[in-house]
Amino acid sequence: MRRKFWGWGLEGQGLDDQEVLALGGLLAGHLGLEPPDLRPAPRIEDVRLRQPRLQAPGALADICSQEPWDRAEHTLGKSFDDLARGLAGRWEHPPDLVAFPRSETEVGSVLEWCAAAGAAMVPYGGGSSVARGIEPDVGDGYAGAVSLDLRHLDRVLEVDRDSRSARIQGGVLGPQLEEQLRPLGLTLRHFPQSFEFSSLGGWIATRSGGHYATLFTHIDEFVQGVRALTPRGVYETRRLPGSGAGPDPARLLIGSEGTLGVITEAWMRLQDRPVHRASAAVAFASFEGAWQAARGVAQSGLWPANCRLLDANEALLSGSGDGTHAVLIVTFESADHPVEAWMARAAEICRECGGEVPDVSATARAGAAGAWRDAFVRGGHTHDALVRLGMVQETFETAITWDRFPDFHAGVMEATQRALREVCGTGAAIKEAASSELIRLGGTITHHHAVGRYHRPWYDRERPDLFAEALRAAKRALDPAAIMNPGVLIDP
Ligand SMILES: Cc1cc2nc3c(=O)[nH]c(=O)nc-3n(C[C@H](O)[C@H](O)[C@H](O)COP(=O)(O)OP(=O)(O)OC[C@H]3O[C@@H](n4cnc5c(N)ncnc54)[C@H](O)[C@@H]3O)c2cc1C
Repeated sequence: MRRKFWGWGLEGQGLDDQEVLALGGLLAGHLGLEPPDLRPAPRIEDVRLRQPRLQAPGALADICSQEPWDRAEHTLGKSFDDLARGLAGRWEHPPDLVAFPRSETEVGSVLEWCAAAGAAMVPYGGGSSVARGIEPDVGDGYAGAVSLDLRHLDRVLEVDRDSRSARIQGGVLGPQLEEQLRPLGLTLRHFPQSFEFSSLGGWIATRSGGHYATLFTHIDEFVQGVRALTPRGVYETRRLPGSGAGPDPARLLIGSEGTLGVITEAWMRLQDRPVHRASAAVAFASFEGAWQAARGVAQSGLWPANCRLLDANEALLSGSGDGTHAVLIVTFESADHPVEAWMARAAEICRECGGEVPDVSATARAGAAGAWRDAFVRGGHTHDALVRLGMVQETFETAITWDRFPDFHAGVMEATQRALREVCGTGAAIKEAASSELIRLGGTITHHHAVGRYHRPWYDRERPDLFAEALRAAKRALDPAAIMNPGVLIDP
């Protein structure tokens, strides 16, 4: 099955029209609206793409494609804004061609050709960016734009059982990676919601954040060493369990969002697969009690695998609550020891904050916790369906210290709801309102969704000026002609 060129997943996957309409009816009932109309998903024969400005040289012809499907698939990411533009027929920045290298050597050949031809190169992993990170909107200063799709670099190359780590290619998607590690009893245990269609290289390039991950949250924690091809040559860091030798060279690549080079492989720290589990979905009448319990558990040193707070609305939409109370999902996992004692202490903390702990189960897949998990895993498909119904659904994510959390939460909720009331129908204005408010209140424009082109205006306000200057200097050193993903993080 091919990946869809618009929307989440593979052709044939996701909600069918009847299911989408049923979802629309349900939400309309909840919100007191007329049942919405359903727009058809875009068809490839109706997609208009500008003429390609580049042709692949003969030596690369068999790994390059200019098929409309491939070009369309590599044009838009997966945010609300991307999905809405696709639905409205706005495919404004297609790549001129898509390259599918089968080896690191072929990555190097495409890179050399782009440099010689004056073409911009946009690395592409799973294409799940929600920050316009893969959209080849590179400006007019280039002969064209090439999307470099790493899907064939999908192997675990080497395993070091003693150190519990592996050398892994950058294009491997989450499930392909876990399939290769499972027979060894190992796992990376990095689960962004986009796990099914996002890649190791993409996670590293965007500093992604996992779920079931209150201790090792960001991919950064798992990287022992990383290897990238830059326009200036190979950039490979020494594989180490840790090091205090000056600023970390791997950190320059982690989060570089395709602007410095193509991450072709990395040595990753692994874990044994957990066999002990305990999970509870704790109901709270007050949101304040719920977040205080979340803080109590987070600061207790118990390190649950999952500690996720759903407000009353989110609990309702994921089937974990009835809309009258917030739900805190707490899950413990271990490969080594039973976890019931940890669960019992976390339950106590929740009770001290007013939580009701009705559902302590030995498996994370049961009850309200299981309902949340199922809804979460299907999130990408639900997102497509809601956009087709003309509904605005988007994820904002950020981070703030606990001392500022109550005012911050209230401020961003208020700004978002005000924008929803004033401008409903234009999702970009709602995003703008939330983003500006969270930057004003001292938060970050992204905790794990990356900067891309979409978050640039706020990122430019968040980072120190001298850091921006240092980043531009690093870019000049590694990519002097500025062909790597221009417009992301810094101006070319
Ligand atoms: C439904 C949904 C849920 C999501 N949930 C989460 C979540 O829970 N946590 C989270 O962190 N993110 C989440 N995201 C955002 C997205 O999945 C992450 O940013 C992810 O890390 C991107 O990986 P990818 O392989 O799809 O990268 P792509 O989208 O292909 O690329 C993202 C960026 O990384 C660069 N890049 C990709 N591969 C490489 C490489 N090998 N070398 C150099 N640069 C590269 C690209 O140029 C681009 O700038 C979600 C997105 C969706 C649509």
